[in-house]
Amino acid sequence: MATVKRKHSRARGRTRRAGHPKLSPVAARTCPKCGETMMPHRICSSCGQYRGKDIKGGAEA
Ligand SMILES: [Zn+2]
Repeated sequence: MATVKRKHSRARGRTRRAGHPKLSPVAARTCPKCGETMMPHRICSSCGQYRGKDIKGGAEA
């Protein structure tokens, strides 16, 4: 099976991304609970909630 031979430089990745809008960094979202800026599909770093559930608090439901 083919393997990656060389690490791409940051400049190479960034140059590629410049011409492909879909490969640009994902836009940040705002938390519906606390309104803090958060990454999509990740728990909120401020209140620890994801899709209405408290993940950080340890309360499994
Ligand atoms: Zn939040």
